[in-house]
Order: sequence, then structure tokens, then C-alpha cells
Amino acid sequence: MEIFKEISFEAAHRLPHAPAGHKCQRLHGHSFRVEIHVRGAVDPQQGWVTDFADIKRAFEPIHDQLDHQYLNEIEGLENPTSEVLARWIWRRLKPRLPGLCKLVVRETCSSGCVYEGDEDQ
Ligand SMILES: [Zn+2]
Repeated sequence: MEIFKEISFEAAHRLPHAPAGHKCQRLHGHSFRVEIHVRGAVDPQQGWVTDFADIKRAFEPIHDQLDHQYLNEIEGLENPTSEVLARWIWRRLKPRLPGLCKLVVRETCSSGCVYEGDEDQ
């Protein structure tokens, strides 16, 4: 079964490689939302895949690195698109949360990306 927890953070960014004149070249902020999906067997005793609190705890150090930051200043996020951010989060979260199977990163209510850990896609 697959469960998920959504966690949000606030951050500023700009996209230096967007085409000339693109609005995302300018400094702006988002309330980013990260949906963290974990797949596993339902424990017959506890009745859950994993404690939602454990997902939150695994993400905490990453949240601390991102929240209220200017993402472009963080190593590896010099071009902080949702896609780059999803991959960056995955690399840090997967070792702490082995059941991680999917990340959904939303920068607005209607725009975001889905990443399932495949480096090439
Ligand atoms: Zn943006």
C-alpha cells in the first residue's frame, strides 16, 4: 500500500536559465508543497505502513535547509526548478526513508512535478 504526507515550506527563487524576459527569471517566492509517498506492507499489528510522524521526522532536516531560504544559494539548487528540487530532495530523503517511492513538488496550486527516483526522467 502507498501512503503520503504533505509538508509545505516557504522559499524564494529565480530561474536563471529561463528564456530572456520570462517572469521566472525575476526573484519571487512560493509556498512549496511536497507530497512524500511511501510504499510498503501494512503492519498487521499496527495497521499502518509507517507512522506519518516518522515521515515528517525524516523530512525535518531537509525542511530546515529549505524553509525561508533563497533556494538559488543552496548547493545543488542554483537552478531551482520544481524538477531540480524534487531530485535534490529525493537524494537526501531516500537514505532516511527507504520506503520513499514518489515525490510530488508543487510550487503553486496548479503547477508541480512528480518524481519517482529515476535519474534520467
Ligand atoms: Zn517560481
